[in-house]
Amino acid sequence: MSLAFDEYGRPFIIIREQERKSRVKGIEAVKASIMAAKSVARTLRSSLGPKGMDKMLQSPDGDVTITNDGATILEMMEVENQIGKLMVELSKSQDHEIGDGTTGVVVLAGALLDHAEALLDMGMHPLRIAEGYEMACKVATENLDKIKTRFDFSKEDIEPLVKVCMTTLSSKVVGRLKRPMAEICVKAVLAVADLERRDVNLDLIKVEGKVGGKMEDTRLVEGIVIDKEFSHPQMPKQLKDVKVAILTCPFEPPKPKTKHKVDIDTVEKFEALRDAEKAYFTDMVQRCKDSGAELVICQWGFDDEANHLLMHQNLPAVRWVGGVEIELLAMATGARIVPRFQELTADKLGFAGSVKEVGFGTTKDRMLVIEGCPNLKAVTIFVRGGNRMVLDEIKRSLHDAICVARNLVRDNAIVYGGGAAEVSCGLAVEEAADKVTGVEHYAMRAFADALSAVPLALAENSGLPPIESLTAIKKRQLEESNPYLGIDCNDTGTNDMREQGVFETVLGKKQQLFLATQVCKMILKIDDVIKPSEFD
Ligand code: ADP
Ligand code: MG
Repeated sequence: MSLAFDEYGRPFIIIREQERKSRVKGIEAVKASIMAAKSVARTLRSSLGPKGMDKMLQSPDGDVTITNDGATILEMMEVENQIGKLMVELSKSQDHEIGDGTTGVVVLAGALLDHAEALLDMGMHPLRIAEGYEMACKVATENLDKIKTRFDFSKEDIEPLVKVCMTTLSSKVVGRLKRPMAEICVKAVLAVADLERRDVNLDLIKVEGKVGGKMEDTRLVEGIVIDKEFSHPQMPKQLKDVKVAILTCPFEPPKPKTKHKVDIDTVEKFEALRDAEKAYFTDMVQRCKDSGAELVICQWGFDDEANHLLMHQNLPAVRWVGGVEIELLAMATGARIVPRFQELTADKLGFAGSVKEVGFGTTKDRMLVIEGCPNLKAVTIFVRGGNRMVLDEIKRSLHDAICVARNLVRDNAIVYGGGAAEVSCGLAVEEAADKVTGVEHYAMRAFADALSAVPLALAENSGLPPIESLTAIKKRQLEESNPYLGIDCNDTGTNDMREQGVFETVLGKKQQLFLATQVCKMILKIDDVIKPSEFD
C-alpha cells in the first residue's frame, strides 16, 4: 500500500493487487475447504441418534422451525460458504434417494474429512487419499452385504416393517408414540404399494395436518382429506355414493381478455346485463346437473349467485381446491378433470363412496374426508399436534418413516443400527487395509477410524463415555464376530441390537457410505476456489 498525490495535490492510496487477495491454492485450499465442511458437519453431530438434540432455526422473516432432521437443519441454515453448500447438497441427496439417514451421512462425511486432514499433514497426496477411501468404501459396502438380514413381510404380516420404521421414529418428536405412528406409516405404504413391481408411488400418500388435538389423534384415512368445506353452510354434511365432477373452470361469466368498457345508462340496460349474468350461472349449474353430477369439486371460487343456485338445485359443491388435491381426487375417484362446462358429460364423472364434512373438537375448522373411491390407492395420514412447529416436525418424521417403509418394499434387507453396522464395516476395512501395501493403506485405516464417528456420536449424545463404549463394542464384535452389537443409547442393559430392535435398511446405509465418500473425494480434489472477481 502506498500513498500518492494526483496533479491537484490530493492524496490517494494505491493498494497493490496482491495484497487484496486472500485466495489460497494447493494444499492450503484443500485444508480450508475441509475446515469449512467440517464446521457444517459439527453442527449436526449432536442431533444424531435417539438421544439427539433438536435445533431451533429462525428464518429471515421470523418463522421458527424446530427439527431433528439433518436435511431440514442444513437447508434452513443458509450456509454461505461454497464448500459448506456441498454438505447441504449431500444431506439433500440422501433425503431424496432414501429419506432417512440425513444426519448420519453428514457426520460420516465430516469424520472422513477430519481424518483426511491428518493424512494431508503427514504429506500424503489428496488423490491418494481419495483412492484409498474409494477402496475402503467398496470393502465396507461388500461387508454390508455379508452382514445383512432379510426381513420377509406380507400385507398381513407387517411387523418386520413396523420394527424398522420404529427405529427411524425413535429419534424424533413422536418417539413416545413410535409404535402407532410406525404402524400408520407402514399401512399407508402398503396400501399404495405395488408389491409385484416392488414400487411405491409416494405421491399417493398425502400427509395432511391440522393444528390442535393430540398427537395420539393422528390417524390413517383410506381416502383423501382436504382442508375445505362445502361451499354453502346449508348443504348436506354427509353424502353417500355420489358421482363427482371435477372442474377447473370458475362459476363466473367469462371475462374478455381485451380491454372493454360497458356503458350502462338506463335501467333496462342494467337489467339486461344482470339477466345475462344470471343466465350464465343458471346454464353452468344446469350443465352440471344434466351430466348427472351429485357433487362438484371446483378448483376456483364461485360467485355468491352461483353458490345460491347450487344450493337450490341440491348440488353440493366444494370450492378453491388446490391443484395437487384435484389431481389426487381425479386419480382416486376416476373422474376426468374438466376445464370447460361444455365438456362436462356423464362419462367424465368419478365416484366416491362417502364424502363427509368432519369437525374437530378443539377447532372450528372443518375438513372433507373422501372415502370409498373405486381406485382406493390414495391414502392420507391426518396428523394432529399442539402447535404448528410440532405439527411440521411430526410431518417430517413421518416422511422419514414412510421413506424407510418404501425402501423396504424395494429391498427388504436390513442391518443393525446403533453404530453396529459401522463398527462391523470398520473392522472389515481394517482387515482389508492390512493386505494393502501401498500408501492407500493409511487412507483405508483412516476410513475405518472415520466409521467410528457414528457410534462415538451416538454414545456421546446419550451421555455414555464415548471411547470406552466404542472399544467395548469393537472388542466384543471382534471376539464374538457378531455384527449385532451397537451402542446402548437407551440404557436398556444390552448391546444386542437384535434384542433392542434397532434396524436400518441396507439401501440407506450403502447410500450413506457412497455419498459421504463421494463428497469427500470431491472436496479433496479441489485445489483452488475461484470467485467471480478473482480469477486471473
Ligand atoms: P438420521 O437423520 O441420520 O436418520 P437419526 O437422528 O435418525 O439420524 O439417528 C439415526 C441413528 O441413530 C442411526 O445410526 C441409528 O442406528 C441410531 N439409533 C436409532 N435408534 C436407536 C436406539 N434405540 N439405540 C441405538 N441407536 C439407535
Ligand atoms: Mg433417522
